[in-house]
Amino acid sequence: MAWFTPAYISENILASFETTNDTFYLENQWVQIEDFDLPTILPATSNTPNFVFNRSQSGFEDVNVLYHITAFHDYISSIGYDTLMDDGIKVDTHGMLGGDNSMFNRNGGDPTLDFGPGGIDDAEDADVIIHEYSHALSWSANNNDNMNTQRSGLDEGVGDYFATSYSRSLNPFNWEKVFSWDGNAVGWNGRVANTAANYPSAGNIYAIGEIWNAAMSAIWTDLGQIVTDKLMLESLHFFTNTTNLAEAAMYVLQSDTILFNGIHTNTLCTHFKNKNIFDANCKPTAVTEVVENVKGIRVHNTYGFAFQNESIEIEFPQVSTGKWMLLDMQGKKIKQEEFSGKAKLVLNQMDIPHGLYLLQIHTPFESKVVKICR
Ligand SMILES: [Zn+2]
Repeated sequence: MAWFTPAYISENILASFETTNDTFYLENQWVQIEDFDLPTILPATSNTPNFVFNRSQSGFEDVNVLYHITAFHDYISSIGYDTLMDDGIKVDTHGMLGGDNSMFNRNGGDPTLDFGPGGIDDAEDADVIIHEYSHALSWSANNNDNMNTQRSGLDEGVGDYFATSYSRSLNPFNWEKVFSWDGNAVGWNGRVANTAANYPSAGNIYAIGEIWNAAMSAIWTDLGQIVTDKLMLESLHFFTNTTNLAEAAMYVLQSDTILFNGIHTNTLCTHFKNKNIFDANCKPTAVTEVVENVKGIRVHNTYGFAFQNESIEIEFPQVSTGKWMLLDMQGKKIKQEEFSGKAKLVLNQMDIPHGLYLLQIHTPFESKVVKICR
């Protein structure tokens, strides 16, 4: 189609060169294009540093995926989240047995993305690519596994949010439509970033995800791409396998405290309230009662820890499961440990430099952050 020709653009991408056979491969530190799922369509290679294709050629999806994942990883690195997915990801751009679907697979710690060529090729749509890659970023930040329905819905929302944020930063036209290329009525209409539905959702994980994306994308409208993306990326580190939307919103507030001294609290509360994720008092709607009924996590002997080589004791109001993390004052994770069935934890002296740290303790009932000195 002639009108289509101006839509093709050339971009520089980082690929690999093999000297033994003078061949360029579509691989770099962040993405490796491979063929591990049917149909068998080998990744494009080239003997020159040029990979030029139109969308009827399989190499188009190969370079499209390599470009967008590399560009997105470069971007999140530039805003301080270079540790996410820093071991790279293997991608089959024509997989899923030829179906019209895509997925992230943890693959025993060697993660993969699989894009189906059915309908409109999924790997032609940057929204699909960034959505699926966001599942990988989330997994990289919180090692999720066996997520419940709420948490799975939250992950769909995170994927839709980053897909929206990324394409909106390139071109804001029709930003409310997610998957605007793939979701074009050839079997599927995509999703929206501004659903009128409110929390809690009666729908499936994708409907839950739309509510999360609507809240975050409304925050984006006020705070812009970089601040909102940072809040989302930071929050990912606190998610467990059962985090619901209300708890996730609390982590966004907490991330704002860590990153920006809480200056966006009011904006965040407003948009989470608009989707009924928070109540009128800026409290999480689904967990309010639980939070108010417990007497709270208590942290003892931070003075002894700082100055007398003693241990910190953490006391829970009930036997608890969760995790604790130690962050430096830049928000970088120094240590993390999960615990289960504990009424009390003892944190012994740690081999860390003297200075100020944030100790975060998360249980399904409560999250607590205390500044500690070492
Ligand atoms: Zn998804």
